[in-house]
Amino acid sequence: MTINVNIEETWLKSLSAIAQKVGENSFDLWFKPMKMVQFKDKNLIIEIPNRFYREWVDDNYPQLLSETIESLLGYKITVKFKISEKEDAAIKRIENKHENRRKELGKRGIYLNPKYIFENYVVGTSNQFAHAAAKRVAENPGGSYNPLFIYGGVGLGKTHLINAIGNFIVDKQSTTSVCYISAEQFTNEVISAMRHDRMADFKSKYRNTEVLLIDDIQFIAGKTATQEEFFHTFNALYEKQKQIVISSDRAPIEISDITDRLRSRFSMGLIADIQSPDIETKMAIIYKKALTEKMSISEDVAHFIASKIKSNIRDLEGCLIRLGAHASLTATTINLDLAKAVLKDLMLDDDKPVTVELIQKIVCEYFGIKIQDIKAKKRTKEIANARQIAMFLAKQYTEHSLSEIGRFFGGKDHATVIYACKQVEERMLQEENFRKNIENLRKRIVP
Ligand code: ADP
Ligand code: MG
Repeated sequence: MTINVNIEETWLKSLSAIAQKVGENSFDLWFKPMKMVQFKDKNLIIEIPNRFYREWVDDNYPQLLSETIESLLGYKITVKFKISEKEDAAIKRIENKHENRRKELGKRGIYLNPKYIFENYVVGTSNQFAHAAAKRVAENPGGSYNPLFIYGGVGLGKTHLINAIGNFIVDKQSTTSVCYISAEQFTNEVISAMRHDRMADFKSKYRNTEVLLIDDIQFIAGKTATQEEFFHTFNALYEKQKQIVISSDRAPIEISDITDRLRSRFSMGLIADIQSPDIETKMAIIYKKALTEKMSISEDVAHFIASKIKSNIRDLEGCLIRLGAHASLTATTINLDLAKAVLKDLMLDDDKPVTVELIQKIVCEYFGIKIQDIKAKKRTKEIANARQIAMFLAKQYTEHSLSEIGRFFGGKDHATVIYACKQVEERMLQEENFRKNIENLRKRIVP
């Protein structure tokens, strides 16, 4: 048995598993053209047609290839891409620069994304306040707003902005210790430190940093031990006037299931929100991205994409990458017809009717619970709350009858749905943050 025979087979099996996972359209465009060229020393080299493929995979499924293959092989591997077309020298230079910087920072234990800097952050009315606050904090860490709390919807640039703060500080004062971490990773570290009796190490790591950037803090809702630990980390840093920057997908008052003392800490400095971009900002972002990708995009194409993609900037970039991949693959220039054809299935969203499944997905994502739980009998407070809200929204946004809605939730009867709607209506009248949560959810269902 040689490893090469095995890997061929594994590769084919992985592809079919991936096809199942990403759906036919994405698979045909992005994964089918990939070729396995070499497997040596646990390094798998895959050939892709052009650079857009790498970017798309990185943005959409960064771990999918390696995880799928690893699960079949039973050990860890590294996936590397080789681009078959001649690469643009300038783009390659930038890629290398980022790669080197990533490594260099990595050695110091700093995990910032070198791509996310202020220079390529487009400022418009929707984000100018958050941007100005971030810039101020970067120029004077610990000395202006502490903490800085940035919140806004998915894909609106929070991660970019807080990385930009970190990159700016590291550039200016190379010795400053900057810690960027997602709240999810922070949670995992708390759990692991408790399990392995390494709390002291954990504490010293976070309490001795000079700048703490914590992303997606809403994740710690409902997690008591993590909140407790974050509370003490916060206080320790705050007392020493170290800068804390927090991002969240919602305002402090709208984060349910966190302790009041933490909520009040979040609101002690400056709270800045990022709104959905207007069409001019979206177009400016497209032009900027096109410039770095060396794509030529005409005004009508930029306008077309900007008007079709409602608010998520990641989706905006996704359209551009897809367009770039197509144009490069078929050696055509990008014009409005090509854009319409290539982006057709991404644009369907516009007229897609709201379904109960969609509502369930959005509500579950929002509250960080599993879809199967909302359909099951489980009755923890969190799940029951999400279920009632999803039922209420289903009543509002779909044409289904009460009993039909009940069936979508694992066969509940219509009385249960009526009760859920009443409960939600009542709470909306009484609780401000509950009402805000419903408003947020509505924005996600019909952007
Ligand atoms: P969030 O963390 O809010 O979900 P991200 O920061 O990950 O969003 O942004 C999604 C993508 O959009 C990133 O690639 C980011 O670089 C880009 N982006 C967001 N806002 C801007 C902006 N104002 N200018 C340029 N690019 C942006
Ligand atoms: Mg983010």
